[in-house]
Amino acid sequence: MIVKKKRWSSIRWRIILIYFLLVFIAMTIIGVFIMSELEAYQMKSIRNNFTEIVQGNILSFQEYGNLDEHKEEIQNDILAWSKSLREEMFVVNSDFIIIASSNPNYLGKSGLDLLNQSILVKGLSGEIAEEDGILPSGIPVKNMVFPIESDNEITGVVCLRADISSVYEIQNQSKVIFIQAMIVALIITLLLGFLIARSITVPIIDVTEKAEKMSRGDFSQVVDVKSDDEIGQLASMFNLLREKLDHTLSEISNEKNKLEAILKNMVDGLLAVDLNGRIILANQSAMLMLSLTQEEIAEKSYDEIMGKLSDNLRFECIRENCKNGSSHDIFHYGGFYYDIRYDRFKDENDQDVGIIILIQDITEQQKLENMQRDFVANVSHELKTPLTTIKSYTETLVDREINDTGTIMSFLKIIDAEADRMSRLVRELLQLSRLDHKQERWYKKELNLINVLKTSITKVEMTAQNKNQQLNQIFDPTQKIMTVIDRDRIDQVFLNVLSNAITYTKEGGRIDVDAYKDEKYAHVIIKDNGIGISENEVHRVFERFYRVDKARSREMGGTGLGLSIAKQIIEEHDGSINIESKLGKGTKVSIKLPLAPRRGIRNIE
Ligand code: ADP
Repeated sequence: MIVKKKRWSSIRWRIILIYFLLVFIAMTIIGVFIMSELEAYQMKSIRNNFTEIVQGNILSFQEYGNLDEHKEEIQNDILAWSKSLREEMFVVNSDFIIIASSNPNYLGKSGLDLLNQSILVKGLSGEIAEEDGILPSGIPVKNMVFPIESDNEITGVVCLRADISSVYEIQNQSKVIFIQAMIVALIITLLLGFLIARSITVPIIDVTEKAEKMSRGDFSQVVDVKSDDEIGQLASMFNLLREKLDHTLSEISNEKNKLEAILKNMVDGLLAVDLNGRIILANQSAMLMLSLTQEEIAEKSYDEIMGKLSDNLRFECIRENCKNGSSHDIFHYGGFYYDIRYDRFKDENDQDVGIIILIQDITEQQKLENMQRDFVANVSHELKTPLTTIKSYTETLVDREINDTGTIMSFLKIIDAEADRMSRLVRELLQLSRLDHKQERWYKKELNLINVLKTSITKVEMTAQNKNQQLNQIFDPTQKIMTVIDRDRIDQVFLNVLSNAITYTKEGGRIDVDAYKDEKYAHVIIKDNGIGISENEVHRVFERFYRVDKARSREMGGTGLGLSIAKQIIEEHDGSINIESKLGKGTKVSIKLPLAPRRGIRNIE
């Protein structure tokens, strides 16, 4: 906010004051000069007048020689002249006695008493002298003396006295006129000063006001450029500055928006911590990962949030770790695994400002690594069991020289069964690998799913019968549900699900197989009332090698790969497979496959 300057110290008033003082000083100087010149001129003209008056007469006075002897002639002369003169004239002899005077009252009296003494003295010593004085009546006068010289001797002086009150009157009148002129001039100066100052200050005030609005973020301000002078240049520079500032700020704002969008949409969490361990920035992902609110970030320090998760994540610790470059760590929080990478960030002077921390959710990666490890362990374990059996039976056969054909045959059957198990396992693993790498060849045809299902059921009928189980076909065997499928693979899926139902259902149990279609999909439901699967395990049956009861499943010849292969085959057909189960109650497997498009037969490989 701009602090408004006091009125009297503003440029406008200063300009007006300067103009005022300039005019005042100039006029005063001129006035004093003119006054004194005028006075000097008037005095000079009086003096000249005196000189003129005296010059004509003084010669005749000189001719008189002794003045006292010619008193009367001189008095007559003076009276004659004084008729036409306003000045008073006195002739004073060398004894300072007034021997002739235009004013008869002065006759015979001492000049020293009535006239100016000092100039009389000077006049009698041969000097032309003058002096101003004031008569006892208060009238200002100018006195001047001219010596009368006769035969190189000063015989007396002619003293002239003139009333100079008119000179002072003129002076006073001139002063009044001059002061009046000065007042008028000063008023005009004030007005002009005001207008001139206004023409300077209005654009400056305009620029100032607009700059103030700009400081509040309003960049729509444009200053009118009214002239080509410095103020006009200031206005156009202001407009240029505004444009550049606007452009730069919008560029900065664009960059900021971009950065904000990147930070907001970043999957990884990002934290910036200053050197005091305060979090100065946290993006949305970081807040989600660490279950933080904006208030918590503002209130809590980095150590209060991250330091408590692990000692390795304490601010001092990470600061120390990234002294020589970026560093990283892994931490576990809220069931997730996070990889945390951090490094110092610096300001433009290459000074450390804080630490930037990138948090990556590596839970999936970790899971995948665990799965791979489990997979290798599972495969090894699955192969090891039959291999151990085969090894021990062959060793027994070789070492003990068994001659009993019955025992040998039973041993060989076991070895054969284990070899079969191994080869099935390897076959299934190879199929999984082909499915994973999309290398499985598909022979899809438009087929009636009911026929495929019926064939699969036929294949397992005997097994079910052996366990005294009822294998019910609930569906209408004559209906047609056309689907585009790879017959062998879908048969493999049905067989797997049906065998599981038979395997995990007790003797005398019941298995219902249903099939129907809706608008878009074919549905196959295989439901048993077998041992079922507990709620917390049912979602895992599609995992590789996952078996609910490991020993029992292996005993039944299961590899734990069947359902995961089935899922991949069904998904390859754009369908889905689901399993619902209740422990001790039974299991329901639902398979959904898209119906074939209405027209024609398509062969798709
Ligand atoms: P397996 O070859 O071991 O049967 P599957 O992938 O086909 O492997 O099945 C995975 C596990 O799911 C089985 O080991 C079994 O524990 C469980 N299971 C599958 N079907 C059923 C079912 N109908 N009833 C009970 N458990 C089942």
